[in-house]
Amino acid sequence: MIIGAGPAGMSLASSLQLAGLDYVILEKKDEVGGQLPLIHNDLDDFVVGVYKDGLDFAQKVIDFNNKYRLNVEFGCTIESIDSTKKKIHCLQEGVEKVYVYDILVIATGSRHRLAEKSLINGYEKDVYYRISHKLNEFVDKKILVVGGGDNATIAALKLSEIGRKVILVNKNDEMISRPDLVSDVYDDPKIVVYNNSELVHLSGEELLKKVEIIINVTAVKQLIDIDKIVFKIGYLPNSGFVDKMIDLDDKAYIVTVGKYQTNIEGVFAIGDIVSGAYKRIAIAMGHGTELGNYFLKEYLVK
Ligand SMILES: Cc1cc2nc3c(=O)[nH]c(=O)nc-3n(C[C@H](O)[C@H](O)[C@H](O)COP(=O)(O)OP(=O)(O)OC[C@H]3O[C@@H](n4cnc5c(N)ncnc54)[C@H](O)[C@@H]3O)c2cc1C
Repeated sequence: MIIGAGPAGMSLASSLQLAGLDYVILEKKDEVGGQLPLIHNDLDDFVVGVYKDGLDFAQKVIDFNNKYRLNVEFGCTIESIDSTKKKIHCLQEGVEKVYVYDILVIATGSRHRLAEKSLINGYEKDVYYRISHKLNEFVDKKILVVGGGDNATIAALKLSEIGRKVILVNKNDEMISRPDLVSDVYDDPKIVVYNNSELVHLSGEELLKKVEIIINVTAVKQLIDIDKIVFKIGYLPNSGFVDKMIDLDDKAYIVTVGKYQTNIEGVFAIGDIVSGAYKRIAIAMGHGTELGNYFLKEYLVK
């Protein structure tokens, strides 16, 4: 039983299908591909290939599925797992279904971490989590980017090409992004960085006009003119349904050892949901393919 039809789950399922092993994928959406349709930048990857955007690659995954007809149960949202009884509880069109498994693979990926609702309340239309499909909305604007990782620095650099000014607010002492991106940010005359700082308030009638940030070390508050805010504050794992028996790290990603094995025998995890995994399509597909080969050796050869 595989949960999730993203790149990780689909790669595993295709290995099992081609080898004639029995499996089912349970997927909450109505289509395969996971996060792929959310990727609006081009993909230029030696392993994955060259594609206009994630939707373009998702179409290849859909075409593969149409050709080989992988065994996917769509519209099935997993609500809970009972790893002692080896049962999965899923909600499908409002009806609860229970599946029993021998082996379970969790491939439910991750999602963007969102800003506190109370902070952005009333200004939602000037708040963004992804920028590449809406770049024209940032032309000549004063933009605040919140975050300090690779996604924040990449966004800040991209926005400085088209915006009037970019302010990057990072809550840590230093940005945790790749050193080359960090130095590009510091070298960019249109980007101003506030480390050790947090966004505390938004203001403006109807449209966003100003934000207030607090510089944590000095407790000094600063009011800045801003038109748009982009949050790049990380990801959250889709692991809310796993039972307490399965070990999670402090951010609720699933801890695995060896061949993607969790602490519970017969329960595996692959792709973005794995603690410490780099969030990349090629990595997720690699996990799925490697686990598929492991299963073939374990269950087909014996
Ligand atoms: C905006 C954006 C840009 C990106 N850009 C790139 C890039 O340029 N290059 C790159 O390599 N990677 C990029 N990524 C990352 C890449 O998309 C992920 O690393 C990859 O999709 C992870 O695959 P996965 O199969 O582990 O998880 P996912 O793709 O997240 O798939 C998980 C699946 O599980 C399903 N699911 C979740 N919870 C449940 C549940 N409770 N019940 C049933 N089903 C469930 C979901 O519906 C989904 O279909 C980007 C991601 C985003 C969001």
